Amino acid sequence: MAIQIKTLDQLKVMRRAGLLVGQTLELIRTSVKAGMTTDALDAIAEANIKRGGGTSNFKGYHGFPATICVSINDEIVHGIPGSRVINEGDIVSIDCGAIIEGWHGDAAISVGVGPMDPEDQKLMDVCEESMWRGIAAGKNGSRLSDIGYAIEQYTNSQGKYGILQEYGGHGIGTEMHQEPHVLNFGKAGNGPEIVPGLALAIEPMITRGSPKTKVLGDDWTVVSADKTRGAHFENSYAILPDGKPYVLTALDGGQAQLARLGIEISDLL
Ligand code: MG
Ligand code: MG
Repeated sequence: MAIQIKTLDQLKVMRRAGLLVGQTLELIRTSVKAGMTTDALDAIAEANIKRGGGTSNFKGYHGFPATICVSINDEIVHGIPGSRVINEGDIVSIDCGAIIEGWHGDAAISVGVGPMDPEDQKLMDVCEESMWRGIAAGKNGSRLSDIGYAIEQYTNSQGKYGILQEYGGHGIGTEMHQEPHVLNFGKAGNGPEIVPGLALAIEPMITRGSPKTKVLGDDWTVVSADKTRGAHFENSYAILPDGKPYVLTALDGGQAQLARLGIEISDLL
């Protein structure tokens, strides 16, 4: 399938979906506490997406049974909410998506619950910063593989982390997952040019050990093969017709984080 190029009006609807996702994740980030079940987080997300006039794009996706993915510690992505109780010191990764008027948003955060092992906190910080570096590298006129190059370079500069290879980012629009696939590693200067109207979800997934993963018997939960802890951050962003980026799933459109990296966001949304 060809890469879908969006008009400004379509990106305005994508912003509504993205903002609802960002607000839902912010609500979860401030709600998550030791003693809660992962099901309780799912219920918060479901209610907030409904209240915001959206629908979940995860629920029913290839049979996925819940509104969000919740993945704890050595679970990296695609964990199914259930009766598991969250403990102090856990890394809780939440992946959330919503659809408004047929347009999709997709984002994820990792949250540390209570006092954290400093190395776990650093893992999350490195993963989040690598996502921002990837978005900054994916500016108008650059090439797709510049994103993965930036993510990998930054991550490797911070210590020994495993960057997952089998999972990556993706185009997003009238489906949650579109062309192109976005690697979180690799050489710079390859692949399609980043152009206005392109919308991508950038989502590094890293562990404190090996990049190798396995899928649990539930056929969804992706865990690190060596049982080391992982983190996952994701935002959906687009290049606007003025050639500037806008982070569709960030509450401030990515203004603060991208300004820090020398990138000005668009004021068209
Ligand atoms: Mg996601
Ligand atoms: Mg995604």
